[in-house]
Amino acid sequence: MIPVAEPFIDENELQAATDAVRRAAISGHVQDYIVKFENGFSGYCGARCGIAVNNGTTAVHLAITALGIQEGDEVLVSTYTNMATFFGVMYQSARPVAIDICPDTWNINPELIEKAITPRTKAILVVHAFGHPVDMDPILEIARRHGLFVIEDAAQAHGALYKGRKCGSLSDIASFSFYANKLITTGEGGMVVTDNVELAETARQYRNLCYGLGEDRFQHEDVGFNYRMSNLHAAIGWAQLEKLEANIAKKRQIADWYKVRLESSSALQLPVERNFVRNVYWMYHVVLNEQCKVDRRTVMARMAEEGIQTRPGFTPFNQQKIAHTRNLARSEDCPVANRIGARAFYIPSGVTLAEDQAEKVSRALLRAIEP
Ligand SMILES: *Cc1c(COP(=O)(O)O)cnc(C)c1O
Repeated sequence: MIPVAEPFIDENELQAATDAVRRAAISGHVQDYIVKFENGFSGYCGARCGIAVNNGTTAVHLAITALGIQEGDEVLVSTYTNMATFFGVMYQSARPVAIDICPDTWNINPELIEKAITPRTKAILVVHAFGHPVDMDPILEIARRHGLFVIEDAAQAHGALYKGRKCGSLSDIASFSFYANKLITTGEGGMVVTDNVELAETARQYRNLCYGLGEDRFQHEDVGFNYRMSNLHAAIGWAQLEKLEANIAKKRQIADWYKVRLESSSALQLPVERNFVRNVYWMYHVVLNEQCKVDRRTVMARMAEEGIQTRPGFTPFNQQKIAHTRNLARSEDCPVANRIGARAFYIPSGVTLAEDQAEKVSRALLRAIEP
């Protein structure tokens, strides 16, 4: 089976992890690899502060919390994403508002934002879908005019560039994931990144149970969370950091391999790269367009028969049962995401993929879409 993604780990990760284990420096209170990883990664992003956490979902929640978003507040969120993005808002009892996407980049459509703003709106939460940066300028401009925060869920976009600047440094605060299939990984892990020192301090407090800052450490300042990353995971992350640019180059190479082999098919919509961005092609996501006479289930089943793993596109928030039962959205709300989500899937595109495998996947896909 050719898997959709496998992490690339070598002796460097082993060495760093071994070093942490040898010194018993493994918890979330040890300030060595954690600090190195935080400084290294936030510096790479071009932001002053990094707050390492235990996964990308808690990173979203921590970013929301640090901004003071709470019950009754509304947050506009791109509907086509991993539901972790929405859950991060819902954990805070705030109300997520699903916004439809652009048909080509699969990112939030800036033209739909303004009419969704109400007096309760506090923030716009964008997702750089599949590694293609959101067109931030119009969104930042709307946010400025309405006094809203902007948050990036950059879990799929480590190192992606928007007009020469890194995703994660384009807004008030951003979240990343280091899950095993992301651009770099700690197995499980995440980070909040911000240029705002005060926001970073708030996030650090909530990450660590809001322990008392005065004489009495056990007199807590608020109801905090334990979202700490362990030093053992940070050791792996610190070693992975060295591989990030090479991983991006590999993802772009994989996207090239697929593009030249698949672009002649009129049945497939492939990822784009607008001229003001560097797409990092987190996963190679393709959409069966109206000319394709075979349904997605059949295409994916045919590929599985040839030993190729695929994953379907996201089910948009507006189609989630939990959104309906809570009266947060209706199925038909976001027609573009509904169409893409029903017709998309992603094909093997992990950093360990070889060209002959991309060749095999491409041939299998071209056969699978034949009626
Ligand atoms: C992966 C991902 C997350 C969740 O990260 P975990 O580390 O799995 O919790 C959140 N948002 C997006 C956009 C993701 O792709």
